Order: sequence, then structure tokens, then C-alpha cells
Amino acid sequence: MIRRSLFVLFMICALTFTGLHVGAQSPAGEKIDLEAIKKIREAEMANSQVMDILSMLTDVHGPRLTGSPNAKAAANWAKDKLAEWGGQNSHLEAWGPFGRGWALQKFEASATEPQAFPLIAYPKAWSPSTNGMVTGEVIYLDAATPEELDKYKGKLKGAIVMMSPLREVNAHFKAEGTRATDEELLAMSNAEPPGAGGGRGGGRPGGPGGTPNAAQLVAQKKQQMVYDEGAAVLLDAGRGDGGTMFVQSVTMPPVPQDTPREQRKSAQSMDAPKIIPQITVSIEQYNRMVRMIKKGVHVQVELNIVARYFTDDPMSYNVIAEIPGTDLKDEVVMLGAHLDSWHSGTGATDNAAGSAVCLEAFRLIQSLGLKPRRTIRIGLWTGEEQGLLGSRAYVTQHFGERVAPAGAAGGGGGFGQQGELKIKPENEKVAGYFNLDNGTGKIRGIYLQGNEAVRPIFRAWLAPFKDLGASTITVSNTGGTDHQSFDAVGIPGFQFIQDEIEYSSRTHHSNQDVYERIQADDMKQASLIMASFVFNAATRDQKLPRKPMVTGGQQRAGQQ
Ligand SMILES: [Zn+2]
Repeated sequence: MIRRSLFVLFMICALTFTGLHVGAQSPAGEKIDLEAIKKIREAEMANSQVMDILSMLTDVHGPRLTGSPNAKAAANWAKDKLAEWGGQNSHLEAWGPFGRGWALQKFEASATEPQAFPLIAYPKAWSPSTNGMVTGEVIYLDAATPEELDKYKGKLKGAIVMMSPLREVNAHFKAEGTRATDEELLAMSNAEPPGAGGGRGGGRPGGPGGTPNAAQLVAQKKQQMVYDEGAAVLLDAGRGDGGTMFVQSVTMPPVPQDTPREQRKSAQSMDAPKIIPQITVSIEQYNRMVRMIKKGVHVQVELNIVARYFTDDPMSYNVIAEIPGTDLKDEVVMLGAHLDSWHSGTGATDNAAGSAVCLEAFRLIQSLGLKPRRTIRIGLWTGEEQGLLGSRAYVTQHFGERVAPAGAAGGGGGFGQQGELKIKPENEKVAGYFNLDNGTGKIRGIYLQGNEAVRPIFRAWLAPFKDLGASTITVSNTGGTDHQSFDAVGIPGFQFIQDEIEYSSRTHHSNQDVYERIQADDMKQASLIMASFVFNAATRDQKLPRKPMVTGGQQRAGQQ
């Protein structure tokens, strides 16, 4: 009952305050250089370059898998552009070792018998090459229990093996693309503080150590069998249908269950074990082959993967550049996004979009000759898709780190607010960090990341953009993006709330993550708001307030 009445009171307050703060000084006393904000907005609306930047990052330099030549070329292009725009100290900053790079050089896949048809298919990232063109009958491992797999024993050497079961495909009755509704935004405004049961992306139940179910046991035994017997190529059907295919990294050879996480090799490890070539096939074709095989039809395919590993440089590179400040130039405001992507599309929404917005925001501030008091520093990160690696390495090197308590499960330490905090002197100079990594959708507001003290400040900063749909402030956390690397060491780090558009339904880690899926008007809106936030943070008298550091939190999340 008490919660309900507080809830209503909160809503009344929220509605009353909305839209009041247009002016040089908000009721909270927040001074804003509205003239500069107006200039930023007009410049972006009249002469945006954000889609040109996006085209360079996707069409020309995409996809940008960490460690690949494309990722390096994209980073170099961004570094040069930042310098060309007048950015200072524009450079690549090495971190690592990350491991070996990978790039696809050629790929062919067709069914040949009983009928010829081209396969819509993609090799998984870090798949090795096949040994030339592999031709043969496909073996479908048809088993509901581990015991049923025994009938395939001794038959998998040199075979092309279909690993995943048939998957039902349903009609899409819901629109692929959506924007946040007023109700959804209001619910975000009214969310409980993190730790009180709210918090999007605030960790998932389960995880390693749980008892595997029947399907998992079958999948594990399949992996063991194909490696024991030496299959030639593995096929599966990832998520997605209707031309959308979600494709990520290869599945690694099985290791004993009790192998500690830090001893498990990743696909990019320089000393990765031998991996069987792996291909994801469109679900409709995959299912068709399964149905034919179940009828006793012999299905033959031809497959050829030519992929290359790059082992000469195990390091990866973040892009860093600055606009020097004036009277507070020793202090820093950062904006950033991850530049790396998965490989089956061109990494447009994940995350050329965020990178292009940050680059455009940087260009706007620089080209308008605005004089930020604090130094503005852009960071474009790599290795995000493998676990926020690039931003975490940058934060560790410059600002400090969380040292996981002894005995804690390896890996993942440092995303959240667990472990002992070791701070470096530069840390306190950072006024704030702003990240964009939730696709092409326009900015609808911002996550406070549990930092209630910044609410009135952000409310004032968002006020000029109410007509652009950006006015929601939620105390919730969001996870899986690089702001967590900053948040973990006490730096006020934020990710904006963005419209979903087609992120989960179509583009996130898929072959459809391409230029066409980008909404140009949304990109402009995000660019001018990013530029404004960064400029506000760089001109305000005080740095953004910090939240009390949590030491026993559970915050963790997967990658975006
Ligand atoms: Zn991602």
C-alpha cells in the first residue's frame, strides 16, 4: 500500500517537472549554455555527416571483428579522421594480448543432391578453412537422448555433420521494428533502484555449475563424438529466420567439466586447440535437409571455407583523441562506443552506429569552435564482443581496476562492483563517461546507473530535447556495454536509453546488421544529444557527482 501511494506521488512529480527546465538556469540551479546547444542542434540537422561516417565504418571497413585487418583499418580511418577534424593526440592505443585475428577470404556452399540449390550460410567466426572443397553426404545426428547417439559411432570421420535439431519456425505477427511506447518509458522512469528487484540486464540466474538438461547432454555428447572421430565440417542453424541469421564464434572442442574458466581456450587464443570448420545454415534450408534425411533421402553438399588467421600481432587497438579543454583542461569528459563487430553483416547497429554518433559528436563540437572547459576525449573500443575487453583494458591502464577476491570464479571480474578497488590518480580527473551501444534507435533518455544525484542534472540537460523524444530518466542499470568498465571503478559512466528499432529481432549479431538497417534521423538525433551531453559535462562548474561505491554488488551482464 505504501509503495503504491509513493508510486503515484512520484508519477505526479515526474509529470509536473517534465518540460519546465527550458532556460539558462533550471530550478535545480543547473546552468546550461543554451546557445551552444542550439548551435549543435542546428549544425547536425543542417549538415550532418553521421551517415557518411557510418558508411565508411560499415560498407568500406566492415565487418570489424576484433583482431581482423578490417578492424585495424577502421581504427586507423577513425584516428585519421579525428586528426583531420582538428582532434589532438589522435592515436591507437594497444591493449592485450587479445590473440589471433581472423578473416574470411572465400566461401562457397551448395546442396548438390538430390537437387542443387545454393545454401544461405556463413562460416562462424574463427572457423578454420576446410581442406579445399569438401563434398559429401550430410549426416544428421538424430537423437533425443545421449544413448541414441551411439548409432552414429564410427560413422563421423571426415563427415559433414548437422549438429542442431530441427527447429520450428513461426510467423512474425509482431512488427520487427518498434519504438519505446509512452507506457514503457513511464515504467522505466518509475523503476525501483538497482538492487530492489529492478535493473535491466542486472544478471541472470543459473550459469556454469548447473545440472545440464537432456538437450544439453545430447549437445555435449555430439561435440565429443565429432571431435573424437574427426568430422570434416559441422553445420548448425543459428537463431533467426526469413533471411536473418545470427552468427557468432565457433564452438570450441569440449573440455572436462571441471576445467577452470581461465584454462579454457577461446577461439582467438594463439594456442587454441584444433577446431573443426563450422558453418551456420539458414533455418529453412537446414530444416529442409533434416526433413529429407528423415525420409531416407541422401542429401549431398559442397562446402569450401577459405579463412585466414592473423598471428603476427596479438595486440588490439582502441582509438583515442581529444579536444583540449581551457581552464579545466586537466579534467576529462569521455564519450565512447565499441568499434568492433561480429562478422556476418557489417556491424552497422552493433556498433558502427554508436561509433559514428561519437565521431559525429566529436566533429560537431570541434567544427563549431565550441570551447569546452574540460578536455573531451573520445574512446572507440575493440574486443567488446569478447567481454568489454578493450574498454576494460583502457580503464585498468588509466583509471584503476577491481581485483577479484581470491577464490572467486575466474573471468568477468571487473564488469561489476565486486572486488577490491585499486584506483589510479587519473581516475578522479574524469567528470563522466557517455556510451552508445544499443543499436540505431534514437535516444529516449538515460540510465542513471544507480546514481540518483545526477538525476536533476540530466533532467536539465534533456529538457531542450523533449520535442525530440528524449526525456526519460531511469535509475535502473543497463548492462553489456562499455560504460560498465568505467562504472566499475567509480567513474560516472552512462549508457543512453535508445529505441529498440530492429535490434533484437533482426540486427544484433546477425547477417542483417548492415547499413540499410540504420535510421538516419535517429542517428542525427543521437549525435546532437551526445554532443550536448558531453559539452555540458565539459563546461559545468563541478564534475558529475559520483555514487557511493558498492563493494558487494552482483552487477554483471552479457555483451551487447
Ligand atoms: Zn554486440
